[in-house]
Amino acid sequence: MTGRHAARHARITFLGTSSGAPTLARGLPSLALRRGPELFLFDCGEGTQLQFRKAGLRPGRLSRVFISHLHGDHVLGLPGFLMSLQLGGRATPLEIHGPPGIAALIQAVLRLVEAHIGYELRLFEHGAAETVARGDGYQIECRPLDHRAFCLGYALVEAPVPGALDVARARALGVPDGPMMGRLKRGESVTLSSGATVEPAQVVAPARRGLRVAYCTDTRPSDEAIALARDADLLIHEATFAHDRAEDAHAKGHCTAREAAEIATRAGARQLALTHISPRYGDPAPLLSEAQAVFPNTVIAADLMALEVTA
Ligand SMILES: [Zn+2]
Ligand SMILES: [Zn+2]
Repeated sequence: MTGRHAARHARITFLGTSSGAPTLARGLPSLALRRGPELFLFDCGEGTQLQFRKAGLRPGRLSRVFISHLHGDHVLGLPGFLMSLQLGGRATPLEIHGPPGIAALIQAVLRLVEAHIGYELRLFEHGAAETVARGDGYQIECRPLDHRAFCLGYALVEAPVPGALDVARARALGVPDGPMMGRLKRGESVTLSSGATVEPAQVVAPARRGLRVAYCTDTRPSDEAIALARDADLLIHEATFAHDRAEDAHAKGHCTAREAAEIATRAGARQLALTHISPRYGDPAPLLSEAQAVFPNTVIAADLMALEVTA
């Protein structure tokens, strides 16, 4: 992975932020991540395609879909979405990543409803932690979370951006134009004809870290979520319940807003967005306040809310 084309910026649009069932205010889970020219979709609950249009997103930019798990609230919007792309005249391939079973689910539904998809569907199933996709300056990683069904969390990870070589400074130190400049830029020290040594740190700016965004739902508190969110610029994490219902949350394979904030803290994330909110919380203020007590830089996602993230 080269960091030369790290965008260091992404725009997240929450399309659905409820759990289990939609409410009048919140649709079923889905979010779009725009990075440079590409658009990714994470989960695709029922109603996602309409939210996608309301958000003004361009279907032609959509290159990859990542599904966390096969519970209906996260995946049942996908067949209709794929059919609408067909009606819209899509000709370019679409990648779909998800847990084992995602291919059979999509193929079965599309066959039974007699949908004819003319563009290429590239289906990938992932049963363990791995790098699932690579692109220009970034990769997408997954790790299994801790839910009732097998469930994957994802992270978009950009490589560090190499620091620029200060050519004028290098020349002033006696480095001749040519291969030595390249070696310094690659992090090697060079020995001049005078016998003096020039270290890269003298002439190359420190590498800048790339963007990191993690998406973790549905899950109980999980060390795998911490690994995905390690030093992340943004962690998007489920907060299905408030902490007074922790027992209920864990029994159902979920976690609380306070626990999401603890994950963000332990991971060293810079910002936390809570999503996958139980329909029981018409007013999510208690979830936000209990999370902010642990991790102040927390927001609660709302449908069609957009977040700009910068490394
Ligand atoms: Zn769910
Ligand atoms: Zn679930």
